[in-house]
Amino acid sequence: MTMLDELYPAARLADAAEAANRAGLDALLLTPGADLRYVVGYDAHAMERLTCLAIPAGGDPFLVVPRLELPAAKASPAGRLGLELVPWDETDDPYAVVAGRLGRPGAVGLADRMWAMMVLRFAAALPGARQELASLALGPLRARKSPAEVAALREAGQAIDRVHERVPGWLLAGRTEQEVAADISDAILAEGHGRVDFAIVASGPNGASPHHTASDRVIREGDTVVVDIGGTMPSGYCSDCTRTYVIGQPPDDFAAYYQVLKDAQDAACAAVRPGASAESIDAAAREPITAAGYGPYFVHRTGHGIGLETHEDPYIVAGNTEPLQPGHAFSVEPGIYPGQHGARIEDIVVCTDTGCERLNTVTRELVSVPA
Ligand code: ZN
Ligand code: ZN
Ligand code: ZN
Repeated sequence: MTMLDELYPAARLADAAEAANRAGLDALLLTPGADLRYVVGYDAHAMERLTCLAIPAGGDPFLVVPRLELPAAKASPAGRLGLELVPWDETDDPYAVVAGRLGRPGAVGLADRMWAMMVLRFAAALPGARQELASLALGPLRARKSPAEVAALREAGQAIDRVHERVPGWLLAGRTEQEVAADISDAILAEGHGRVDFAIVASGPNGASPHHTASDRVIREGDTVVVDIGGTMPSGYCSDCTRTYVIGQPPDDFAAYYQVLKDAQDAACAAVRPGASAESIDAAAREPITAAGYGPYFVHRTGHGIGLETHEDPYIVAGNTEPLQPGHAFSVEPGIYPGQHGARIEDIVVCTDTGCERLNTVTRELVSVPA
């Protein structure tokens, strides 16, 4: 078996049809994006012309593609599945093509990220069909990673860890956040990613803004710097890892809460095991931070699932009582953001049969870059 067959097994199409059936959907309609790629491995070009994988709950799947995309579809991993390809010409109505083949479905599951223009065209072409989200069927499948998917996430984690190992060489007093972010972006590609998704470099007070965009602020001695970076590997699977650095000696109050944060991140990872609720992992991270008096400065959920998208199910947040299962992959990323500076530590972890595997293993100690 090739790596591709393991990562995107041919049986996914039948699994998706079965999941649609269980969810009470007569068909799934998947336009370019993670849902489509998950089922057949096709990283299709998202544009205004309709590409749609239709998966009837009982019946044969087919892929409707613009004729000019036909060679790309055939060359993609979808081409090895013996899936029927239905090309349409520029003057055809591809929505009518899909509707004509589906008959009269009572309910269809639309790819969660389908464009609104396509949702509305499908509503018009299938007037009797209730529109639901495809995640009703695909969500539980996508959330539980196969061993091949875990291996792909591990490969992504190791690639982004190698970038973090190189960060101290770029994080120098006198350089701007943007200059450092540009070096990091080059390295994300050089270390094996196919695409840079984000390179957050948040120095000094900018570290208190969790999703800060790298700016022209000049990094100075004594600054702490939150570096949150990620990309997408050629496999389709994503990396996402945060470390906090300091130029020289950290501010007095910083070292104390960095240790609290590190303990909290450890506690949350230690709580990961099958059967533990997603919200219990959030609570495990929040308790030590709250006990130390920093609770109001931990302003976001503890984590998010990750796979073909950087943010997907399961979300590690109060209110999510879903029990963790082996194969669930997600971030554990508590943060403390008092204002004059901030800190976050983020690893991607996988729930195993017995506990937790961290896919990021680069040091979580505060790394001091000589000033
Ligand atoms: Zn984030
Ligand atoms: Zn994250
Ligand atoms: Zn992140």
